[in-house]
Amino acid sequence: MLQTGIFWAMYMTLFLVLVVILNTYYFAHDIYDLKDILPELAPVTLLVLIGFAAIKLRHIDSVTPKQSQLFLMLLILAWCYLLYGLIQLSSEPLPGIESLADILVMVFVFALFPNRQVMLLGILPFLLFSCFYRLHEFPESPVYPLTKFACVLAIIISGQKIISGWFIKAVIRDFEKQKLVKQFKRLALIDGLTNISNRRHFDEILSQEIRVSERNHHALTIILIDIDFFKRLNDTLGHQTGDEYLIKVAEVISSAVNRPRDLVARYGGEEFVIALPNTNLDGAIRVSEKVKELLQQAELLHPCSDVSEQVTLSQGLAQWEQGMSQDQLIKAADRMLYRAKSAGRDRYCFEGNDD
Ligand code: GH3
Ligand code: MG
Ligand code: MG
Repeated sequence: MLQTGIFWAMYMTLFLVLVVILNTYYFAHDIYDLKDILPELAPVTLLVLIGFAAIKLRHIDSVTPKQSQLFLMLLILAWCYLLYGLIQLSSEPLPGIESLADILVMVFVFALFPNRQVMLLGILPFLLFSCFYRLHEFPESPVYPLTKFACVLAIIISGQKIISGWFIKAVIRDFEKQKLVKQFKRLALIDGLTNISNRRHFDEILSQEIRVSERNHHALTIILIDIDFFKRLNDTLGHQTGDEYLIKVAEVISSAVNRPRDLVARYGGEEFVIALPNTNLDGAIRVSEKVKELLQQAELLHPCSDVSEQVTLSQGLAQWEQGMSQDQLIKAADRMLYRAKSAGRDRYCFEGNDD
């Protein structure tokens, strides 16, 4: 924040130096010569140019707060030196000098606005300069500069308080909005019951993985999983217990995969799907076996299954091949799942096995 403000003040400095030069050339040449003010302008100009060069060499974000504060102090000193130099050069009161100090107050208010203390330190030299300059040039009317000093200071301090309050509120609101958007995005991709990815997320990830495999010629396999006789389980134990079983099965399947890019999703009612990037059919078979084994260990009782006393799964495996679309891949896995069901359930099938 401070760095960005000072960066802007550097641009403003160059602009104001140009204004001073043009003013001197066109309007103040009868008071002093342009070449007379060049030595006064040199420190502030050189300082800013060195600052720009330093930022070009090292990115602005790498400038430390300490370095920024030091540069700011030098910049303020260089401006004070210029203002003082202009007074020395002019033998008569020059309203432009007071205006320049007032403009510098504005510049440093905006540049240092978020940090009230630094801002006050930055503007006080110019406010005091403006006040003392007028007191010195027009000692017969001290009320005006003193009133101006007090009013400007009061307005800046109270205004900063109000506006920074608005900023803080806006930042908090923005932060909360971003948090909500993140939550919504997450919710849109997560299944509400089982807390694993939903079908939409799976479809999105699978299409990405297919593109990666197309480019890199990596293997990619999916496993479509369906709980056996789940309707009967619902009918005997009730829908609520059915839901609890779905959550447990989702946990079991999720614990069977461990690579970061593997994805487990709830594909439909009691259907799940696993995407296994960088994995061929042999690897996917190992995952299917692990799912079966972990489910057995979970000992989820099924009171009316034809194949076991526990909940069992039918699994259809399909490996992606070059040229295959996402739809074709899922249909291939679905065919294998159907085969597993017809062959007696509680098993996995893939193209080539006659189970
Ligand atoms: P199969 O072995 O042939 O797969 O038999 P099934 O009974 O599992 O198959 P079917 O597709 O006929 O039934 C799926 C059942 O899954 C239907 C519905 O009662 C149940 N189901 C689907 N979604 C949910 C859910 O969110 N919660 C619960 N409790 N049950 C669900
Ligand atoms: Mg089903
Ligand atoms: Mg089923």
